Amino acid sequence: MNDKKSAMRSHRVVWHPCTQMKHHEEFPPVLITRGEGVWLYDADGQRYLDTISSWWVNLFGHCNPRINAAIIDQLGRLEHTMLAGLTHEPVVELSERLSTITPGSLSHCFYASDGASANEIALKMSFHYWQQSGFPEKTQFINLQNGYHGETLGALSVTDVPIFRQVYAPLLRPAHPVLTPDWRFAEAGETPEAHALKAAAALESYLTQHHASTAALILEPLVQGAAGMGMYHPVYLQKAREICDTYRIHLITDEIAVGFGRTGTLFACEQAAITPDIMCLAKGLSGGYLPLSVVLTNDTIYRAFYSDQTSQAFLHSHSHSGNALACRAALATLDIIEQDNVIETNRHKTKFLNQCLQSVRTHPNVRHFRNCGMIWAFEVDNPRPDFTNRFAQMGLERQLLIRPMGNSVYIMPPYIINEEEMEFMAQAILNILNEI
Ligand SMILES: *Cc1c(COP(=O)(O)O)cnc(C)c1O
Repeated sequence: MNDKKSAMRSHRVVWHPCTQMKHHEEFPPVLITRGEGVWLYDADGQRYLDTISSWWVNLFGHCNPRINAAIIDQLGRLEHTMLAGLTHEPVVELSERLSTITPGSLSHCFYASDGASANEIALKMSFHYWQQSGFPEKTQFINLQNGYHGETLGALSVTDVPIFRQVYAPLLRPAHPVLTPDWRFAEAGETPEAHALKAAAALESYLTQHHASTAALILEPLVQGAAGMGMYHPVYLQKAREICDTYRIHLITDEIAVGFGRTGTLFACEQAAITPDIMCLAKGLSGGYLPLSVVLTNDTIYRAFYSDQTSQAFLHSHSHSGNALACRAALATLDIIEQDNVIETNRHKTKFLNQCLQSVRTHPNVRHFRNCGMIWAFEVDNPRPDFTNRFAQMGLERQLLIRPMGNSVYIMPPYIINEEEMEFMAQAILNILNEI
């Protein structure tokens, strides 16, 4: 199939996500026919290094032989069954393993398909817990400024990214965003840690007033992805945990983008040695292969729903909850993380890529260069109004799939990237910076 022709066909019938479709008149979508490792191949045989892990989901490359084999094996046994009244081996094993590897005692796993649905579940669960525990006035949620939790209406209510939120504001619940600990917003001379402590103080001052009406604080631990990979000091998480305990508020950590080793530890919460009351995982959970998300919670919350009354149960469902194929992909992903000692291996890769990016870091147009585990980001001083699209286009011309958010350029490659590919990626980014 001819590349241009099918791109036109796509334009006619596929309404692409997060896209002004008119832009595709000039730059049609790239028709990808095959993936292997960090590379995506188009119909003309051109290849592109997936520097952003296909929207942050891919961990071990495209068409990973081990994950492929697990899915194929599962396909011959059971593709899917509903999870009410029935259960299956992959979902049981995955739940056991997730409760073992996550911090603290998050021992109950509730499944959905997408990240946004996981956050919807977390919010409903927190609210419902308080309803059934003698605190019916706890109906509000707090979030961080610039936080992102997905785009369904409940998740969007706790999302603070104007471009996604503004139009829909009349449909959303009242928002209570508190100061972000993102160190890009620190004052001159203020360290990231001092800024994080200031943000924690702002959280506490909000809660001294509003704790009685607040059910939960939801946040992205360590890295605020959609804010342009804003990063913050882990002391904020420690303080937030203490403050939530003091004021009897649930702490919901949305590790949808940062879970499974992205920030350098298996889960971002580990860097602050805290356990949330509710934790949401998706994206890398299935190695990025299939839509799968999970909400983990502790026994205290679980017990509040456990009774003889059906009406006290958590009556929430999605058709594909705990899909067997997706669970097998997740189990294969966990196997790779363990067998290949991924956290340790990634530490060396992080060091190597930081060396490769030295000239990017010190580039005269680059500000706020930052790195956390396998995520890198920086702001580019460039007045072009079309900077974002232009940078992405120049990336494609240099074999990179890269999509800045505004003037924030970030890279978040699959963990299987090798040294040669890291050198190639860093050099291509430097060339774009010099030419744009
Ligand atoms: C991507 C993302 C979501 C939404 O997940 P979807 O699967 O796209 O619905 C929620 N929270 C965070 C932090 C994310 O990065």
